[in-house]
Amino acid sequence: MTSLPVIPTSPDAPIGGAARRAAMPPRHLADLDLAGRQALVAELGEPAFRAKQLSNHYFGRLVRDPEQMTDLPAATRARLAEQLLPRLLNPVREMACDDGATRKALWRLHDGSLVESVLMGYPDRITVCISSQAGCGMACPFCATGQAGLTRNLSTAEIVDQAVYLAGVAASGAVAGAPPRLSHVVFMGMGEPLANYARVVAAIRRLCAPAPEGLGLSQRHITVSTVGLVPAIRRLADEDLSVTLALSLHAPDDDLRDELVPVNQRWKVAEVLDAAWDYAGRTGRRVSIEYAMIRDVNDQPWRADLLGRLLAGRLAHVNLIPLNPTPGSRWDASPKPVEREFVRRLREAGVSTTVRDTRGREIDGACGQLAAAEVAS
Ligand code: SAH
Repeated sequence: MTSLPVIPTSPDAPIGGAARRAAMPPRHLADLDLAGRQALVAELGEPAFRAKQLSNHYFGRLVRDPEQMTDLPAATRARLAEQLLPRLLNPVREMACDDGATRKALWRLHDGSLVESVLMGYPDRITVCISSQAGCGMACPFCATGQAGLTRNLSTAEIVDQAVYLAGVAASGAVAGAPPRLSHVVFMGMGEPLANYARVVAAIRRLCAPAPEGLGLSQRHITVSTVGLVPAIRRLADEDLSVTLALSLHAPDDDLRDELVPVNQRWKVAEVLDAAWDYAGRTGRRVSIEYAMIRDVNDQPWRADLLGRLLAGRLAHVNLIPLNPTPGSRWDASPKPVEREFVRRLREAGVSTTVRDTRGREIDGACGQLAAAEVAS
């Protein structure tokens, strides 16, 4: 049994001492709403409308190089960019696979922390998977990020900038066979988004505000994935946001979930599902139940039946994820026939179920493995 991770007492509290001590990055315009940017620009002795101009370059045109902001006086551009657009993400490595339709970016942050983001192009949409923390404190034993522990929370702008940067990659037409406009964002990279609650919610607001305030994505196209921090799920339901909640369940019974998702020792399956159904009821959004299929661990027919009974008649969809084995792990993905039987039983129980595609496996999909490989080297 894995030991209980340090759980925040309120959704806003940082987890563990490391997050409290770690240095946050310099302030960036994406940390602030438009009114905040206007007040800051005025403080810097410039007319407030410069905030809109800068924001339009960053969010509207996806331009961050001050040289290209020719509607601003040259001296002002440099000074404002220095104050409001500091470089937050330093690219360490970019990798592509699936004929260029999947791209993964590894970033080094100002304090040396590594995080990653993944862009996935489809014929009808482009999705980016972004990180909310450097590392993660949730200690799920099958997840590479969980093994290293938490370094620190990302700032709002560090979260937003991953999407803005990859929206620029998409706009350049680099993603073959996909539309040029970023449309979907999933918080399924490194970290537990609801353990960095206030910054993640602010990032969602920036991603969804229309330009020049934000990136103009639809709230319905944002998915927040969580281990199941019950008070934070309940608080998210109060935010008046129509984002999709994804719950990393991975087991229908407390005995096994206590091990696979250690936060279950604090909030049990029944409690977390209760919060999920409240979320679905409040937002009208179907909850996505994430279930990594782990050979001989959680893939037995009786567990499919138990899961089916828990979910039948609920506003839920099951997303089975073939386990992506992490280096040195004792676990493997379920064999395909076992997976098919699991799907069959869930559907028989009336539960809508799909198996997630395994995009980006060759470049170590979005499970913290690229950053882990970089640290190891
Ligand atoms: N902390 C959030 C986001 C994490 S990553 C959460 O737990 O929901 C998004 C999903 O990938 C989660 O469901 C997580 O459990 C799953 N995941 C992590 N490592 C995995 C692996 N090695 N194979 C398959 N899925 C994995």
